[in-house]
Amino acid sequence: MPKRLTTRTAVEKTVHQALRDQPIVDMHTHLYPPTFGTPVPNRTGKTDRDGLMLWGLDELLTYHYLVSEVYRVVPAHSRKGGLAYEEFWKLSKQQQAEHIWKHLFVERAPVSEACRGVLTCLELLGLEVGKNKDLGKLRKWFAQQDPSKYIDKVMKISNVESITMTNPVFDDNERERWLKGAELLRGDPRFKSVLRIDPILRDWPKAAKKLTEWGFNAGDGKTLTQKNIEEGQRFLREWLDRQEAIYMALSLPPEFRYPAESGEAADKAGQMALEKIILPVAAERGLPFAMMIGSKMRVNPALRDAGDMVGKSDVQAVVRLCAEFPKNKFFVTLLARENQHELCVAARKFGNLMIFGCWWFLNNPVLIEEITRMRLELLGTSMIPQHSDSRVLDQLLYKWQHSRVIIGRVLADKFTDIVDTGWPVTDEEVKQDINRLFRGNFLEFLAR
Ligand SMILES: [Zn+2]
Repeated sequence: MPKRLTTRTAVEKTVHQALRDQPIVDMHTHLYPPTFGTPVPNRTGKTDRDGLMLWGLDELLTYHYLVSEVYRVVPAHSRKGGLAYEEFWKLSKQQQAEHIWKHLFVERAPVSEACRGVLTCLELLGLEVGKNKDLGKLRKWFAQQDPSKYIDKVMKISNVESITMTNPVFDDNERERWLKGAELLRGDPRFKSVLRIDPILRDWPKAAKKLTEWGFNAGDGKTLTQKNIEEGQRFLREWLDRQEAIYMALSLPPEFRYPAESGEAADKAGQMALEKIILPVAAERGLPFAMMIGSKMRVNPALRDAGDMVGKSDVQAVVRLCAEFPKNKFFVTLLARENQHELCVAARKFGNLMIFGCWWFLNNPVLIEEITRMRLELLGTSMIPQHSDSRVLDQLLYKWQHSRVIIGRVLADKFTDIVDTGWPVTDEEVKQDINRLFRGNFLEFLAR
């Protein structure tokens, strides 16, 4: 029997419980199963230097969020423990982790969200880091793990039911693995793949050259004949099948415009490839096309992955795409806080637009709370409040734990607001909407 909730306390209790019980389908990560190899020492004794499955303490500590943070407290040219960038990159992963641990965790309080995230991971794994800050001891614990069983453990603790990968077909290391590996094709039921195709839109001349090398007659990258279009489409279909991909995706810089404004040949060619190759194949297969817009690459190149920045994007480009391609479905997430309101309003206008997540520089409690409130107020529960964007498996632990608390707080407020009007709300309805937010909306949009 559904139970009617009449007080704030009853709402809070129900929301809290429902969030704890709700399995999560994480719609966008950069995680991999063990069949893609792991460079991390583990009990199976099998490591692969270029392996793609990242997990464990040293990967957590050397994640690029923390690299940029350590360079704030000991800048490259500081006389007190500063390391020139090239010196840092020459260190082993363990040495890099030690440098970060010393400066961000031991010598000052690790209060930033990225630092706190590492502590939450260790806490949820039962490692009691407060009692012992010795990295050696912690490392031993991680080295005892079997990668595949460790995935089960992390998924169980974080209550993640399914992990969506991102599989960039223009990355040679990964591409070769797909071409070689029959075991990758059969897949791992815990993981789903996503065909990631950035160069097709961002640098069509380069993509066309690659496609031609790989046996698809995509032309010279400047013009697009009917034959080139067909070959580009054949390439996408072949890879969608190979990966059994559930959608296609790419990331775009803040300067992305649709239609292209720059007059640059490469931008015009990219637009053609989008209109003639990507979107028709996505529509024919009924697959969404995901755009993650707003990261400005390498404003400080010496920091490598840690050197990227945010910039304001053009929401009207998203609006035009949704309007001009009504048969396509779009997943969109924007990196700039300043774009969030306009994007919510855009989503009110287009049923083929599903907005999702708070990633990277938005993955901070203050912004997740603000953005989730705004989305609920403008869109109700017809959106996907969060994805983890984890690159290191263990990050699932902290990202979902932190987000659950914040989203729970916002939901409790919103349900209490309607209870206060006298509208009947039951525990079943709360559970149903929480299921939509963390799982159902994504699956339903894929199936639509
Ligand atoms: Zn991502």
